[in-house]
Amino acid sequence: MNIAKIKILRLEFPLEDHQTYNDDGYVDSVILHTAQLRLKYGIPVEKIEIPSHWDFSDPLGRYYMHGDDHHIFYLRSSLWMNIFNRAHEETHALQCLGKLDLLEDKLRDEQRRNLDLWGLRNDEVRAYMGSIYALRMRGIPLWVSRINIDFNYNNRDFQEAKDIYKKSKIK
Ligand SMILES: [Zn+2]
Repeated sequence: MNIAKIKILRLEFPLEDHQTYNDDGYVDSVILHTAQLRLKYGIPVEKIEIPSHWDFSDPLGRYYMHGDDHHIFYLRSSLWMNIFNRAHEETHALQCLGKLDLLEDKLRDEQRRNLDLWGLRNDEVRAYMGSIYALRMRGIPLWVSRINIDFNYNNRDFQEAKDIYKKSKIK
């Protein structure tokens, strides 16, 4: 039996026989690693498209699924940003593996937060909730996210996740 080890969120659960969960680790380029995975899965190189919103800069991390194979990978950054990015991609994977309830349980039991992750506006808000949890479980305050000003100011989904997290405290 395969076990999915979700490292930053500190979750483990059994996978179905046909599923795999692959934490590919730190990569030099998220775009390049995506292209390599597509080649590995037999997608012809001329069909490899780079999403236009990626522009010419590398995203910080990615969740990638091919059939039952789930991958996450990410760029290396500062310590707290590594935690933040990795937990974000892990949460995307958790969602696609149908295990968001495990994260809800941890938020309730460890952080005293009552959150309906499926009820959030989109996948990105959900994924940032994983990032926030990963920081808080390590005792890292949320204001550290201000260090990365570009990220903070341009990202509505993250702001929304932060606001919802703050209001979710169980009284
Ligand atoms: Zn995302």
